[in-house]
Amino acid sequence: MGLVIDIPALVANWKALGARAGSARPGAVVKADAYGLGAVRVAPALYQAGARDFFVALASEGRAIRPHLADDARIFVLSGHMEGADLTGLVPVLNSPEQFFRDRALRARGPFAIQLDSGMNRLGMEAGEWAAIRSEALAAGPQLVMSHLACADEPDHAANAQQLAAFRAMTEGVTAPRSLAATGGILLGSDYHFDLVRPGIGMYGAEPFTDAQPVVTLALPIVQTRDVRPGESVGYGYSWTATRPSRVATVAAGYADGLHRALGREGKLRLWAGERACPVIGRISMDLITVDVTDLPDVPPALEILNARQGVDALAALGGTIGYEILTSLGRRYERTYL
Ligand SMILES: *Cc1c(COP(=O)(O)O)cnc(C)c1O
Repeated sequence: MGLVIDIPALVANWKALGARAGSARPGAVVKADAYGLGAVRVAPALYQAGARDFFVALASEGRAIRPHLADDARIFVLSGHMEGADLTGLVPVLNSPEQFFRDRALRARGPFAIQLDSGMNRLGMEAGEWAAIRSEALAAGPQLVMSHLACADEPDHAANAQQLAAFRAMTEGVTAPRSLAATGGILLGSDYHFDLVRPGIGMYGAEPFTDAQPVVTLALPIVQTRDVRPGESVGYGYSWTATRPSRVATVAAGYADGLHRALGREGKLRLWAGERACPVIGRISMDLITVDVTDLPDVPPALEILNARQGVDALAALGGTIGYEILTSLGRRYERTYL
């Protein structure tokens, strides 16, 4: 019951993505608490499997996992050197000349990486900015020179080759390790792999790594069941009315747990009792979801919302979103079990 996180499956996905990346070294992106799954559990498991390069968004996230990793693990902070940040034991990924000069002034001997903008226009130095500081930056010995792809989950998108060419042009002659690919980029093929790859979502079992093993299952405990007569309604707004004698189960999770109201928008959301699907009826409320269990021969103690039949990507599609958002929204209130 609750949220079950299959660490061996996650590690297997990381290894499978590493194998797809040829001779490039696989790092691991554990930002946003390892996509909601728990960075202090996930990062050490990946370290044990051989990962040494971890990526987080914020220095505070890096500090949270630093004590759980040995000294030879590098923790890269993607937001770089923000003013006032404590970067002890971390490697800022410097995104602008301003960050570069701030970092060199304050941590002259501290390890750093460089992010270049190859077209996404989100983070990283523009070609002109890079040209101006390139020799000084390279002389200081960056741990990594990286960029990020905007459209890697669409293999036919023209931006992929354009960004690759831009990254190559900006990093020609660079001897520091280079990195361009996240999960999507790994799957684009060897041109995109360079020296280090940065898988995130694929390890956690979601698209675009369609060969991933599922990593999470989520079973919601039933609080109460009741019989409802034809003509009676269920939930806020009376949005569902029984047309037959029905049995309704109320489970303990709702939008405050990351099961957004929008998941029910088309009336297609189902919870599962083993292989039997039970339609969600009525509106998803903050802490509760109501389910039509009339057709179940026996009502189990819990119903599944994430399982082998309805995975992260299927659930995301019902809500008009992506697997990343489903995972990073998973609530803090679930009982969590790590396999
Ligand atoms: C989030 C992120 C990744 C991981 O991306 P996935 O699509 O989850 O594999 C890699 N690199 C950067 C810069 C990121 O922001």
